[in-house]
Amino acid sequence: MERIVVKFGGSSLADAGQFRKVKAIIEADQRRKIVVVSAPGKRHPDDEKITDLLYRCHKLAAAGGDFSKLLAIIRQRFAEIATDLALASPVPSALDELRTQLTAGCDADFAASRGEYCCALLMAAYLGAEMIDPGLSVAIGGDGSVRPETYENLGKLLADHAKTYVMAGFYGYDGSKSQRPVKTFSRGGSDISGAIAARAAHAALYENWTDTSGILIADPRLIYDPKVIGEISFAEVREMAYMGASVFHDEAILPVREAGIAIRIRNTNRPNDPGTLITPKLSAHALARTEIAGIAGKQGFSMISVAKTMLHHQAGIAYRLLGALLEHGISFEHCPSSIDSISVIVETEQLAGKEEAVVKTIRRVIEPDSLVVEHNLALLAVVGEGMSSTAGISGKVFTALGKNGVNVRIINQGASEINIIIGVAAEDYEKAVLAIYMAFTG
Ligand code: ASP
Repeated sequence: MERIVVKFGGSSLADAGQFRKVKAIIEADQRRKIVVVSAPGKRHPDDEKITDLLYRCHKLAAAGGDFSKLLAIIRQRFAEIATDLALASPVPSALDELRTQLTAGCDADFAASRGEYCCALLMAAYLGAEMIDPGLSVAIGGDGSVRPETYENLGKLLADHAKTYVMAGFYGYDGSKSQRPVKTFSRGGSDISGAIAARAAHAALYENWTDTSGILIADPRLIYDPKVIGEISFAEVREMAYMGASVFHDEAILPVREAGIAIRIRNTNRPNDPGTLITPKLSAHALARTEIAGIAGKQGFSMISVAKTMLHHQAGIAYRLLGALLEHGISFEHCPSSIDSISVIVETEQLAGKEEAVVKTIRRVIEPDSLVVEHNLALLAVVGEGMSSTAGISGKVFTALGKNGVNVRIINQGASEINIIIGVAAEDYEKAVLAIYMAFTG
């Protein structure tokens, strides 16, 4: 029988009530044999995630402070779940071990990983499943990438199709060090763990259960009750995630994309909602759908523009401009150019404390007629695979912006032609997103 990997995020595991929903979801489909868990998240907006508590605990311990109160809060959270579910909990001894390690000076990755570790212990006990500790099988490279041996290691551990497995998300071991210490992915990394498990087990599908009914067409903080995207491709979702749409960790696409396994984002609190299907290749139906998949965006960009007459005749201008940034360790987002000018867009954060020096370097290597640095820019990405073959999409975008009085500062279309990047002043950002959303959904 084919198997499905189900990954549950922190809000889906926040308390015993959520654990019960998880069990019901698993029991509703026999194919859901591999369960990947995050650490318990917030139960209400003012609550604290277990992972955040663990990081705080570690910080305090590293500073020689008394972390016992924080550890007691963590103990209490797990104890409440275990008591409510009438489980003999294996968590207390895991937390005793953590206390010993914190006192002995363990690193932050080990401390943070215990949220997922304890949650997996508890979930495995609740489901009567086998617990998988990724600290023994998921090899993470020094740069945070998944090392290839992971799939073989984990494939063997997940081999029995009759069994249900519960694997802790978020961490593995540092495959670049011989002692193999615990190493975590970046925050939200349990999504990556789920994708790794799906690939290692040759799963038919990777279901990612969260607290929204899929990926939304636009940011719900800007648009009231935006529509859910029914189907989206891997390429589109990476653009959306990179440009600020949350829900799914952008690096989590890679393991499943390579294996051609589709992902479905679903809502633990509304298990009958269809969610969003992320597929290697859009179906004909999806391609024929709407004109765009979604709109994403980020604030906090700056643009450095240099002008010089006959600039386009000089070889190596972009090379020198980007080289100047490299000299200061700055990466760039976009680099639009015109006949006598070239601009580079960077995150404002990266310029902090370096702006003067960067400008000086650029003046030295390009000797421009003028150089202007502008801050407070926002970038929007209108994403959609059908875009390049459908006439009139960009017309619709820019008409909507014009009608709503949004001054477009930057336009950039990547070679993949699955997005149009638009730069606007930060104060026009919300208006721009709303105008585009209305143009395509209204
Ligand atoms: N618990 C970790 C975090 O809060 C990882 C995850 O939830 O995916 O970032």
